[in-house]
Amino acid sequence: MEDAKIGEKRVVTLHYTLKNSKGEVVDSSAGSDPLTYLHGSGEMVPGFEKSLTGKKAGEKHSFAVAPAEGYGERKGKGPQKVPKAAFEGIGDIEVGMALDTEGDDGHSQTVWIAAIDNDFVTIDINHPLAGETLHFEVEVLAVRKATADEVRHGHVHGPHGHHH
Ligand code: ZN
Repeated sequence: MEDAKIGEKRVVTLHYTLKNSKGEVVDSSAGSDPLTYLHGSGEMVPGFEKSLTGKKAGEKHSFAVAPAEGYGERKGKGPQKVPKAAFEGIGDIEVGMALDTEGDDGHSQTVWIAAIDNDFVTIDINHPLAGETLHFEVEVLAVRKATADEVRHGHVHGPHGHHH
């Protein structure tokens, strides 16, 4: 049954562990709810979707994703330190958090909080995993056809999905 294979417009539920090149666990669904996503919607990095295309429920799969198919190569001048006072009024900030800011050219730019110390916050325009080869271990739990609404919205509805 083709519906049961991962591909475009399929809702995939899986457990995953993500390690960096040093073998350190960066992220994992182990011990919590599995991840559910709409395949082909761009929710996941391209190399992740590519490697899982054609897989079925019950299959385990380990694969590596190069930066170009993951979070991209590192770009720009690298992390920048800014006075903590610049973050007043935007609530609690923590390392790893993404913020939308206005760049020098007036366009919005996403920056990640790389470090926080007493007086300064280090921000980086690179995703924390930019430049990293991503090592995934995945266990596919379920694959189903997306509903027309889910396809139109570009995300999953229902348990563990998007709630309106
Ligand atoms: Zn929706």
